[in-house]
Amino acid sequence: MARVTRFAPSPSGPLHLGHAYAALVAAERGERFLLRIEDIDRARCKPEWEAAIYDDLRWLGLRWETPVMRQSERPTVYEAALAHLSQSGLTYHCTCTRGDIRAALSAPQEGAQIGPDGPVYPGTCRGKRHGAGALRLDMGAAMARLGDVFFTDTGTRPGLHRFDAGRMVREVGDIVLARKDIGVAYHLAVVVDDAAQGITEVTRGEDLFEATAIHVVLQRLLGLPTPAYHHHRLIRDAQGKRLAKRDDARALAKYRAEGATPGDIRRLVGL
Ligand code: GLU
Ligand code: ZN
Repeated sequence: MARVTRFAPSPSGPLHLGHAYAALVAAERGERFLLRIEDIDRARCKPEWEAAIYDDLRWLGLRWETPVMRQSERPTVYEAALAHLSQSGLTYHCTCTRGDIRAALSAPQEGAQIGPDGPVYPGTCRGKRHGAGALRLDMGAAMARLGDVFFTDTGTRPGLHRFDAGRMVREVGDIVLARKDIGVAYHLAVVVDDAAQGITEVTRGEDLFEATAIHVVLQRLLGLPTPAYHHHRLIRDAQGKRLAKRDDARALAKYRAEGATPGDIRRLVGL
C-alpha cells in the first residue's frame, strides 16, 4: 500500500521555516502527498494566506494531489461525527467560561494539571446532556469503553506508546470536540479528515505528540483506522524558542524577497 502523507497548515499567517520543514518532511516521506487547509476558524483565516501557502510550497518545489481538502467546506461531515459520539453517550455540553474553569481549578482539591489544550478541565458540566456552549468528550467514559490506546511513532520518540485510562483522564481530561463559536474543534476535524484523505502516516511536529493520544481515542470511538505517526523535531530560533506564526522574521516570503533559494531553506532547516 502506498504511503500517504499530508501537510495541514492553517491559513492564519505566513508560512515560516518550521512550516517549510514540516512540509518537506511530509512530502519526502509520502509516496502520495496531500494538502489540507485547516481553516475551520474563519475569524483567523484569510484567503490571502491560503494563496500564499500554495505559492510558498510551489516555490519550495513541492507538488501535491488535487483537489486540496479545505476544512471550511466540511461542516456536515464534522456534524455527523459529533452526532455519532453524542449518540454513544460520551459527550456533554459545557457552558463554562475560561474564568469559570480557572476558578474551579483554584479550589484547593483541584490543582491545575496542564494538558495538550491547556489546563485539564475540572468536569464541572459533566453529565449536561443538553444546552448551548461547547461539546466535550467524557474521557473517563470513553476510556472505560476502549481500554488502553496505542500508537507508534517513528520520529523523535520512536516506538509503541501506550496511554491508559488513568493517564488520559488525569493528563488530558474532557477535551472540547466542538467549539461554541465554530461548531467543531481541531482534534475532531483532524481525525475525521486524516481518515477521509486516506492518510497512512501523519507527519507533524513533536509539539503535537500528546494530542496524538486524543486522536487515537477519537479514531477508536468513530471506527476509523489509526495511521502511523512520525513526530518530527521543531525548528527553533537562535534563543531555542520554537517558531510561531507571529515570527514574521522567519517567514518564507521574507527569505524569498532577500534572494534565498529553496536549497538555502533546506539547509537552514537542516535537511
Ligand atoms: N493545522 C495544524 C497546525 O498547523 C496541523 C496539525 C497537524 O498536522 O495535525 O499545527
Ligand atoms: Zn463547563
